[in-house]
Amino acid sequence: MVIKNASYVISSPSWQKCPAPDRPEYAFIGRSNVGKSSLINMLCQRQSLAKTSSTPGKTQMINHFAIESSKKEKAPKYSWYLVDLPGYGYAKVAQKSRKAWSKMIEDYISGRENLMQLFVLIDGRHKPQAIDLEFVMALGHWQIPFTLVYTKTDKEMPSVVERNIGFFLEQLRSSWQFLPQVIITSATKKVGREEILELIGNYNEK
Ligand code: GDP
Repeated sequence: MVIKNASYVISSPSWQKCPAPDRPEYAFIGRSNVGKSSLINMLCQRQSLAKTSSTPGKTQMINHFAIESSKKEKAPKYSWYLVDLPGYGYAKVAQKSRKAWSKMIEDYISGRENLMQLFVLIDGRHKPQAIDLEFVMALGHWQIPFTLVYTKTDKEMPSVVERNIGFFLEQLRSSWQFLPQVIITSATKKVGREEILELIGNYNEK
């Protein structure tokens, strides 16, 4: 897929305030500091479309970006939304705003009719973290389709990343029949870009 244009649209405090659901939408979520902004910038080939966060967990909004892409350089363009969702698990965020976050996210992912796929980002350097497992389990409960995206994988040996992924899937296997697709990425080394865009392209054609 070729990204022709990517532009910021709006930040919304709730899913009801989001732009009209007039095109397919793909959302990115993960623990604060997981590398979400870097990944979004890498996908869109822009330096600072999504702001790489200096204060993790500060941006508690649903951020919409309008993307124009085409299958090949000269193919017709189609439009979709890329959504940057607020991160979870920032230690300094008070209990009250954590609850508000949960409600906002649950409402968005279960209510947003044009949401085609959720990309859940996991730091490839770590063994399964309770907070990621908890979130993914909740997605299973809500029956939301998602893809696991492993980030910062350039920072660790491939065998360690594979082992961490294996441990994570093992935890899911105990209660799930179907396991999610996994994509390995590095924003620094530009790994995984084609795979994510191809997945989005395939959904857009459905
Ligand atoms: P966010 O809070 O999830 O949006 O995370 P950021 O994109 O701001 O990234 C957090 C930190 O991790 C920053 O210092 C980034 O430079 C760094 N980072 C993000 N992605 C990668 C990656 O793929 N490789 C490496 N080595 N560092 C990364």
